[in-house]
Amino acid sequence: MERKTVNLLNFPIDTFSKEEAFGYAKALLDNSKSTHIVTINPEIIETAKKNSNLERILKEAELVIADGIGIKIGLLIKGQKVDRIAGIDFAKNLVEEAAKTGIPIALVGAKQEVLEKVSEKFSEQYPDLNIVYTHNGYFQNNEEIINEIKEKSPKLLLVAMGAPKQEEFIYEAKHILPSTLMIGIGGSFDVWAGNVKRAPKILQKIGLEWLYRTIKQPERFKRIFPTLPKFICSIIEEQYLKKGV
Ligand code: UDP
Repeated sequence: MERKTVNLLNFPIDTFSKEEAFGYAKALLDNSKSTHIVTINPEIIETAKKNSNLERILKEAELVIADGIGIKIGLLIKGQKVDRIAGIDFAKNLVEEAAKTGIPIALVGAKQEVLEKVSEKFSEQYPDLNIVYTHNGYFQNNEEIINEIKEKSPKLLLVAMGAPKQEEFIYEAKHILPSTLMIGIGGSFDVWAGNVKRAPKILQKIGLEWLYRTIKQPERFKRIFPTLPKFICSIIEEQYLKKGV
């Protein structure tokens, strides 16, 4: 399957439907090399504009899905309507797929007690799930952890350490692990452990999950608020002002 990407501020974003994106990810699971799925949002793009290493990581990812209303709006400005694909749901589907097909998975990220709760819950929910490695998200030496993972040969690796840390970790791992599909999923382990609640379904549906999370965790406001309007303005500028020049 060919990728269908649209550039936002020079960052390629995949415009697959949810089903197509999942089909593509399943194909990546069968790939003979390691691959990286990014669930992108305006904050990551704004950070990458000032960080050339992160810029390269995002541009070399095998699949970049539009998580977050900001990306959806940005793509709409570019004339492209896309499904919003919440990274947390996408990753859960991958876990279900792993349970179904018996492929080995690894979990890295979050605090130790959160991680333990997640692996317990997964083992209860999916008795056939083969978790071959777990590590909390607080360590100094990426390479050491990646080598430990390599010994266990997982085919799927979920990394929940927040961006850009998880993206940098995955990029390093991509060059050491022979054939693992990796996805960065931010605070998803906290949600799966039951420590952080997701927004009611209706808010998720209308794209206001971010508003709910911001009210629940006001410290996020500082991170999200200045970024979103700036991001949207840059895209309007890219689309309408630079075109005629
Ligand atoms: N985290 C981690 N290692 C770190 C810093 C953070 O594993 O060095 C974890 C943290 O415990 C939390 C997640 O990364 O589970 C970050 O969640 P956040 O909500 O900030 O990420 P977002 O979903 O906004 O990307």
